Amino acid sequence: MLTTRRTVTGIMAATALAASTRTMAQRGSSTYDVAVVGAGSFGAWTAYALRQAGQRVCLIDAYGPANSRASSGGESRIIRSAYGAQAIYSRWAMESLVEWKALQARNGTHLFEPTGVLAIAKNSDSFLDETGKALMALGLPHERLSAGEVARRFPAFHLDESEGAVFEPNSGALLARRAIQTLVAELVAGGMAWRSAAIRPPKGSGTLPGLTTATGETISAGRYVFACGPWLPKVFPDVIGAKVRPDRAEVFFLGVPEGSTAFEPGVMPTWLDQYGIAGAYGFPNLEARGCKVAVDGDPVAIDPDLDQRTVTTPFIEAMREFVAFRFPALAKAPIVETRVCQYEMAKGEEYILDRHPGFDNVWIAGGGSGHGFKNGPRVGRYMAQVLAGSGAADPRFSIAR
Ligand SMILES: Cc1cc2nc3c(=O)[nH]c(=O)nc-3n(C[C@H](O)[C@H](O)[C@H](O)COP(=O)(O)OP(=O)(O)OC[C@H]3O[C@@H](n4cnc5c(N)ncnc54)[C@H](O)[C@@H]3O)c2cc1C
Repeated sequence: MLTTRRTVTGIMAATALAASTRTMAQRGSSTYDVAVVGAGSFGAWTAYALRQAGQRVCLIDAYGPANSRASSGGESRIIRSAYGAQAIYSRWAMESLVEWKALQARNGTHLFEPTGVLAIAKNSDSFLDETGKALMALGLPHERLSAGEVARRFPAFHLDESEGAVFEPNSGALLARRAIQTLVAELVAGGMAWRSAAIRPPKGSGTLPGLTTATGETISAGRYVFACGPWLPKVFPDVIGAKVRPDRAEVFFLGVPEGSTAFEPGVMPTWLDQYGIAGAYGFPNLEARGCKVAVDGDPVAIDPDLDQRTVTTPFIEAMREFVAFRFPALAKAPIVETRVCQYEMAKGEEYILDRHPGFDNVWIAGGGSGHGFKNGPRVGRYMAQVLAGSGAADPRFSIAR
C-alpha cells in the first residue's frame, strides 16, 4: 500500500502548525470568517469548500480528525451510486468520488480502492430497478445480475434465485480515517487554522458572538458550522434533540480461508444488501484485515463520548446467521478484529444541512444516517454555497422537515 511517509509527514507538519495556531489563539482573540466544529467527513469537507471559496477558516475538534469515537473514524466506507430512487444521493456520490480521487492524487496517498460495488436485493424489491434507472440517467456503467451470474462472477457470494444484484464497476471503498486525516493535514499545511478543543453548547439567540471551549477560551468568527455528527443532540438539545439518533453499529472482520483468492479486492467487490430488517454491508479483504461485515437490526442507543466500544452477543449472532447464508465459506471464519461505531440517524435518512433557527450566523451539518461519509465532498460544497448565499437551501435537508 502507498501509506505513506507523505501522509505521516503531512500529519506531523499539520500538528506542528496546529500547535503554533493554538499558541496564537491563546494569546488573544482570533477572528475567522467561519469556524467549523467537527473534523469528520462533513466538517472537514465543509472547511475545504470554504477555503476554496477564499474564506479564513478555523476547524475545531474535541478528539481529533476521524477519531475512534467519530462516525468517520472507521477504516473503510462504501462509495456507491446505487441508491434506489434517491437520485440526489446517486448524483452526489458520483460528484464526490471525483473529489476523493483528486484528494488521493494531490497527496500521493492511497485512499480509494476501486473494488466495484455489488448491491443485492430481492428481485421483487423496486430498489434494483430504481437503481438501474438512476445509474442509467447519470450515464454510470452498471450491470443487472441474476443470482447465477453473481455466483459465476463473484464466487464468495451465495444468492437465492429470488435475489438479484446491480454491479457498479467504478465504485468501491474509501479508506475513511486515512482520507479525512489526509484532508485535514492538507488544509492545515495550506494555512487553515486548527484547534483541538471541545466546544460548549452555544447559549442564547440572535447573532452568536463566539464559541466557548471547555477550558474557557473564546474562538470568534463571523459564522459557525456545527458538523458534530452523533454529538449534535448534545450540542443542540432543543433544536436537534431526538431529530438525530445515535445508533450503535458493530462491525466484524472475518479471517479469510488460507490461500483463497475469492475474498481479495479485485475478485470480491464491496457490497451492500437489503437483507433483514435494516440491511447488511461489507468489504473484501482490504489491507489483509479480513472481510468486514456489518448487519443492522433494531436500533440500540449509544453515547458517543462514554460507551465502551466492545461488541455484544446480539450483533455477533445476527452477523453469524447472515454470513452462514450469504458467504458459506466464511460460516466458521474466526473474528479477527472488531469495531463499534454509530450511525447518526435522521428522519427519512436524509441529511440535516440547515441554518440554526435561533442564531442567524450558525449552520448545522449532520444526520449522515449511515450513508454520509462518501458524500462529504458534496455536502461541503453545498454548505459553502448556502453560507455564501449563492445556493438555495433545499427543504429536504431542513431541520424542521
Ligand atoms: C459502522 C459505520 C459504517 C458506515 N458505512 C458507511 C458507508 O459505507 N458509506 C458512507 O457513505 N457512510 C457510511 N457511514 C456513515 C458515515 O460514516 C457518517 O454519516 C459520517 O462519517 C458522518 O460524518 P460527520 O462528519 O457528520 O460526523 P463525525 O465523523 O462523527 O464527526 C463529528 C466530529 O465532531 C466532533 N465534535 C462533536 N462535538 C464536538 C464539540 N462539542 N466540540 C468539538 N468537537 C466536537 C467529534 O469529535 C467528531 O470528530 C457509516 C457509519 C458507521 C458508523
